[in-house]
Amino acid sequence: MDLTDHRQVTALLERHGFRFSKSLGQNFLTAAWVPGRIADEAGLAPDDGVLEIGPGVGCLTAELARRAGRVLSLELDERLRGVLGETLAGFDNVSVVFTDAVKADLAALCREHLGDRPWKVCANLPYNVTTPLLTALLKAGCFQSITVMVQKEVAERICAGPGTGEYGAFSLLAQWYAEPRLCFEVPPHCFVPQPKVTSAVLRLDVRGTPPAEVPDEGFFFAVVRAAFNQRRKTLPNAVSAGIPGLRRPEIEAALDALGLSPAVRGETLSLAQFAALSRLLYSPGIN
Ligand code: SAM
Repeated sequence: MDLTDHRQVTALLERHGFRFSKSLGQNFLTAAWVPGRIADEAGLAPDDGVLEIGPGVGCLTAELARRAGRVLSLELDERLRGVLGETLAGFDNVSVVFTDAVKADLAALCREHLGDRPWKVCANLPYNVTTPLLTALLKAGCFQSITVMVQKEVAERICAGPGTGEYGAFSLLAQWYAEPRLCFEVPPHCFVPQPKVTSAVLRLDVRGTPPAEVPDEGFFFAVVRAAFNQRRKTLPNAVSAGIPGLRRPEIEAALDALGLSPAVRGETLSLAQFAALSRLLYSPGIN
């Protein structure tokens, strides 16, 4: 069966009495060129263990299973059990676990199902939970790379640099843990049902060591979040409002020491500048 053929997929789903759920972000790929391109970007080797989140009918899963050593696929929707049992029957290197990937212990599941080989993530993510899923995948610290399809707008936010409208706390979080690269776009007509927005495939190469030195990661991210929480405020106003232990004069003095104006806004500071600022402002117990 061709799992990217619109008619065959529709017939398969009808046979199983399946109805698409919008709240589960169910837009299934039906363009033959896309699964192979995603897997190409992931750079999979025969010994890799791949974690996929949200297999749908399994069109990307099958592509991953053909290229990697083992595939673990996490699916929340139990109604897809019969469908996946049928479409993935020919593969002996795929485990499908029905669970909520947002709540799951990803490292423990990978240890159990992928074993002792390099782990990579490759998935067409459910768009409604992209941010918590990507945050968990990045923080897990056990994946070499994360190649995922997300909304184009989210991919642009993740890759954005200072001084752009897309740049924000999530750009800095992603860039702290990984080096992101926007690979290619996928238009709405490549899915059933068609989403309203364009999608994009993003590859994040997870860093071995952090890109800058900070005294406390939690404090660094607290400064970043505070700076972007009130984007229109100056950085001293936004950060002193977000972190009660910090007063405006000390933030202004720290900015001065970095050669930055007290009227600066968070969106103009680079990751290295946020790190330097957090080094100057940190004292134990503050956040
Ligand atoms: N990989 C398939 C494809 O490319 O055609 C389907 C991708 S579809 C965008 C997202 C999939 O994620 C759906 O199968 C949906 O049921 C599943 N899903 C949604 N929320 C989930 C969650 N929290 N944990 C695991 N899977 C989830």
